[in-house]
Amino acid sequence: MPERVRQAMAQVMVNHRGPECRTAIGETEEMIRPILGTTNHILFFASSGTGVMEAALVNTVGPGSRILVIEHGQFGERFTAIAKAMNITVDTVATAWGQAIDVAAVEARLREHSYRAVVVVHNESSTGIVADLAALGALVRDRPTLLIADSVSGLGGIEMRQDEWGVDIVVSASQKALMCPPGLALASVSAKAWRVIEQDEGRSVFYWDFRRALKSVEQNETAFTAPVSLIYGLRQSLTMMHEEGFSNVLARHKQLSGALRAGGTALGLADFCNDGPRSSTVVVFKVPDVLEGGAIVRHLYQHHRTVIAGARNRLSGRVIRFGTMGVLSAGTILTDLLHLEDTLTNFGLPIEPGSGPKAAAEHLAAKK
Ligand code: PLP
Repeated sequence: MPERVRQAMAQVMVNHRGPECRTAIGETEEMIRPILGTTNHILFFASSGTGVMEAALVNTVGPGSRILVIEHGQFGERFTAIAKAMNITVDTVATAWGQAIDVAAVEARLREHSYRAVVVVHNESSTGIVADLAALGALVRDRPTLLIADSVSGLGGIEMRQDEWGVDIVVSASQKALMCPPGLALASVSAKAWRVIEQDEGRSVFYWDFRRALKSVEQNETAFTAPVSLIYGLRQSLTMMHEEGFSNVLARHKQLSGALRAGGTALGLADFCNDGPRSSTVVVFKVPDVLEGGAIVRHLYQHHRTVIAGARNRLSGRVIRFGTMGVLSAGTILTDLLHLEDTLTNFGLPIEPGSGPKAAAEHLAAKK
C-alpha cells in the first residue's frame, strides 16, 4: 500500500452524508470507471470481496434459477459454495488447477440449458491463471444468461474491459491491486443485469440490494454508512494510477511478474501454470518435492521480513505464491529473488549464487 494512501486515510473524519464524502465518492467512481472499462455506475459496499461475490448472486439469481460456475481454482469453488448455501442449483465446468478455462465446455453447457448466469473468477489467485472474459462475454451476449466475474485480485493490475467484453457484473475489493487496506468492495452492473435485477422475483436481500445501492450512488452516497477512510484511500490510489497512466500500470505489472517468473524458474522452481494466460498480479511456483511450501513462507518472513503466501486449499504445501500487485518495482522483485535464493539455499537446494536476480534482470533489460 502506498504511503500516499495511508496518509489520505489518516485525514480528519467527516460526515459520511456530508459534502466532502459525497465529493470523494463521486471522484472515486469517476476514476475507477476507466480501470473497469465501463460507463456503469459503481456500487460501493463496506465489505470484503466474498461479500460482493454473494451480493452478485443474491441480486440476480432467484429461487429455482440455475447457474454455471467455472471452477479453475479455490475462488471458483467459493462461488459454488456461496451459491449452494443460497440453495441455487449449480452446474460446474471444472478444469485442472493451473490450466486455462475450458470455453468450449462452457459453450456446450449453454446449448443444453438456459442458465441465469455464468460465473467465473477473472484472476484465480490460487493458481495464477486469468480467465478469457472476452470469449465468455461473446458466448452470453445474445443469450439471456448473465456473465458474472470476480476480479478481486485482478482489477487494477490486469486488463478489464467490462463493457467491450460484455461482462454483466464485475465484483472487486480494495485490498489487492487497488492498493488499499481491506474493507471496501464494489460491483459494476451492466444494463442487461439491471433488467434481471429489476424483475423482482421475491429475492431475499437487504444490505446487498443493488437497487438501493444504485439510488444512493446516484446521489454520491452509499445506502448505509460509508467506510469513509477507505474511500479516501481508494480515491488516492486511483489518483496515483491515473498519474502513472493506467496502461503503464498494466505494463509494469506484466513486466515485473514476468521478471519474477524468470527469476524463480532460474532458481529451479517450476511455474505452476501449465498453459493459458498467466496473471500479472500473482506468480505461483511449484515447491520441489523435497520441500514444504509453508517452511519457505516462514523462512522468508523470519529471516527477511518478505511476505509471500502458501496455499490454504488442496495445494497446501505444494505451491508458493508471490503477490505482484500495487506498489511494485524492479527493486522489489530483485530483492524478493535474493531472499528466495537465500531461503532455498538454506534448505539445501543446489543454487548458483545470483542466478535468480540475474535471470530477472535479463528479463527486465530485454523488455525495455
Ligand atoms: N476472489 C479472489 C480471486 C480472491 O483472491 C479473494 C481473496 O483472496 C477473494 C475472492 C475473497 O476476497 P475476501 O478475502 O476479500 O473476502
